[in-house]
Amino acid sequence: MKKSLAAALLSAVATPAFAVGQLPPGVTPLTYDITVRPNAKAMTFSGEETVAVEVTKPTSTIVLNAADLKISRATLDGKVVSFRIDEAKQQLILSPGSAVSVGKHSLAFAWTGTINTSAAGLFAIDYSNTDGSPARMLVTQFEAPDARRFAPLWDEPAFKARFTISTVAPAGQTAFSNMPASSVTKQADGTSLYRFAETPKMSSYLMFLGMGDVERKTVMAGKTEIGVITRRGVVDQGDYSLAQAKRLLTYYNDYFGQPYPLPKLDMIAGPGSSQFFGAMENWGAIFYFEPELLYDAKRATQSGKQRIFTVVSHEMAHQWFGDLVTMNWWDDLWLNEGFASWMENKSSVDLNPEWYAAATAVAQDREGALQVDSTSGTHPIIRHVETVDQIGQAFDGITYMKGQAVIGMLESTLGAETFRAGIRGYMAKYKYGNTATDQLWQELSAAAKTPVAAIAHDFTLQPGVPLVTMTDTRCVGGNTLVSLTQGRFAYDDSAKQAQTWRVPMTLGVLGQPDVRATVRGAAVQPVTATGCGTVVLNHEKASYARVQYSPAGHAAIVRDFAKLKLTDQLGTLGDDFALAKGGNQRLDRYFADVGAIGIEANPLLWQTVASQMSDLDGRVAKGPARDAVGAKIVRTLQPVMARVGFTAAGDEGALTATLRETLISVLGDHGDAAVIAKSRELFAALQKNPDAIPAPIRAPILGVFAHNATSADWDALLALTVAEKNPVTKNSYVRLLGAAKDDALAQNALALLSTDRFTAPQKASLLRAVANEHPDMAFDFAVAHIALVNTLVETSTRAGFVAGLGAGSDDPAMPAKINAFATANLPKEARGAATRIVSTMAARRQVDARIRDDVAAWGRTSS
Ligand SMILES: [Zn+2]
Repeated sequence: MKKSLAAALLSAVATPAFAVGQLPPGVTPLTYDITVRPNAKAMTFSGEETVAVEVTKPTSTIVLNAADLKISRATLDGKVVSFRIDEAKQQLILSPGSAVSVGKHSLAFAWTGTINTSAAGLFAIDYSNTDGSPARMLVTQFEAPDARRFAPLWDEPAFKARFTISTVAPAGQTAFSNMPASSVTKQADGTSLYRFAETPKMSSYLMFLGMGDVERKTVMAGKTEIGVITRRGVVDQGDYSLAQAKRLLTYYNDYFGQPYPLPKLDMIAGPGSSQFFGAMENWGAIFYFEPELLYDAKRATQSGKQRIFTVVSHEMAHQWFGDLVTMNWWDDLWLNEGFASWMENKSSVDLNPEWYAAATAVAQDREGALQVDSTSGTHPIIRHVETVDQIGQAFDGITYMKGQAVIGMLESTLGAETFRAGIRGYMAKYKYGNTATDQLWQELSAAAKTPVAAIAHDFTLQPGVPLVTMTDTRCVGGNTLVSLTQGRFAYDDSAKQAQTWRVPMTLGVLGQPDVRATVRGAAVQPVTATGCGTVVLNHEKASYARVQYSPAGHAAIVRDFAKLKLTDQLGTLGDDFALAKGGNQRLDRYFADVGAIGIEANPLLWQTVASQMSDLDGRVAKGPARDAVGAKIVRTLQPVMARVGFTAAGDEGALTATLRETLISVLGDHGDAAVIAKSRELFAALQKNPDAIPAPIRAPILGVFAHNATSADWDALLALTVAEKNPVTKNSYVRLLGAAKDDALAQNALALLSTDRFTAPQKASLLRAVANEHPDMAFDFAVAHIALVNTLVETSTRAGFVAGLGAGSDDPAMPAKINAFATANLPKEARGAATRIVSTMAARRQVDARIRDDVAAWGRTSS
């Protein structure tokens, strides 16, 4: 699954409050034959299935999963059996009366269920056709445990089975699933009965069924048919994804050493949105929300285009790593998600070198992981998961971003060829099966002919970020003796405990060959580097650690900044910024780094600086000090903006295009008059021509306009939103309605939540948008309207959603309000997200206190 951008940045999301037990062993499903008949108008469906099971020890009960299903019939080997439902455990318990014998048996069920309005189980996406008429697409979302809302199943990843799915589609609609249809039969009433071919052995959370008024376009990649499925009228926007998927299929067939095993691979675009995820790796039928898959050349930015490649690459990597080989249990979700996230950049480095994916990963993904891992609320990558709440909370920044960073560190340590040999061995050995993480370490160790488990365990079983500190360097006999110590880096004092890792690290003197070292323990460790000169620690920032230089060492880094590799420049900016926030050094080291960046430097450097600086003004109190910092940010970035301009030069490259997006956003949000005027001018043109704003700057320009909106501007935006027929554009306009910094306009936005003008997912994204600028207002609104808010978000997001709205608050009373909300509204098991948010807020207050004076002083400096 690919997290939604907003959800990935939250330290955790949580799910509703009920415990699930793990299903007892002894009864294993072999095949399912499932028929589901949706009634899209009534938002209900009926289902029936037969399940062939193997009983390995005699049992008097058979236990499987079901949630929110009304079971009307259950039979065992053709005889009716009594059953009961344990709603808390989401289990269906059959009691046949006498012991069921060892061997094969057949179960059959009939039931009815609900079609949901948000993404859990079978759900509906409502949108407008291009002519404005209403349309409804039905699709499924089953990860983590929501297949049980579709059919009674052994809904745990280790119970792999073969699935045959059948359904009935209304006249004029097409149904689609994991496998191609083996038969489509027209019925007398105009509907079509679809029967899809049997899947290979797979986990239930990877099933998929969808139907709607769609178009499909295909390309062949070897023997595999790759398809894109969209609402009618936009299938050509899938051309970019189809072309990338074709390249990626060849790339992955080679990388994993196993050919993609299904006859087809569809990519389905749903014209909706979710607070929880952007795309899902259903085997052979990957589901995406539309902006993650379809490239609209008239409206998408360069970063939007790169995001499409990233998400397609992530989901396709899962077709092997996750779908072909699957974790035994959710404890090891990190391995699925960390690997797929790492593969996004790996494949991009190889297929799109002009995007500098490795450097971008240092500045963004790695930095994101280090951020969420730097407070006392963090947790080890691997942790035991038992309840549905905990499964939902497992999809967090640690799982995705730290998982990715640790896998990247292991690849760098073992070497790319050796690492790939280990992955190929793992795929060959465990295909169609399930594994635990240590089985991957075994295959990597076998390939490397050296054990990797010790380092891997240090980084997956303990929480936190290592800090490697250079205490001294000496030139001795033509070589440099580097003295290193290690500890734990954190923003809050309570997390700064004595802790060590075995940190593999390359370091060296600039211009000389690197040396490899493993930093162990806390005592001073000497490492000899070849030659004398400027020492660079953690070369290419391949290891998951912060590094701090001695004063002389840092002065040398600043002096030679232009000679460093781009990855080391970006990593140094990130480390120095964080070390100031953690109280390990002053902010002036970071500003010295920035001072060493020339105006013509790689655009990624200025993009990173712009993002870091936009974090600074919130550190000082509202009023003159904050205004001064905002003005200083504008003065610092204006010369860069002057160089890139509002209009793309023909051959400027992807990085300049993404830098321009960031600069417009940061400058416009900090009051740059020229950028704000430009946004007003372009919005006025947009009201006459929907494509008036050039695509490369459309999203940031609209963001700036909405942020600075006057009452008249906001009314104009609302009129545009209501009239908009393109569902993706409409979703983005709804979010913009919540982006105004003006308090009264934010209240206007909240008032829209009680109207029926927008769908539930649109309202959820509007509320979250208001929270970005007005966390207190959004949180108070949600608490006062909790019944309404609970209808807007998926069950998987519910427990963390409201607490997350208040996360950006400066009000000292907010942490207590979040805790009080959690205590009053959530059972104990579901309060993890709220606890982590409160802990992150506490850490932020400590950071603010440490750097406030330095930030204010910087704001007062001229130039
Ligand atoms: Zn994923």
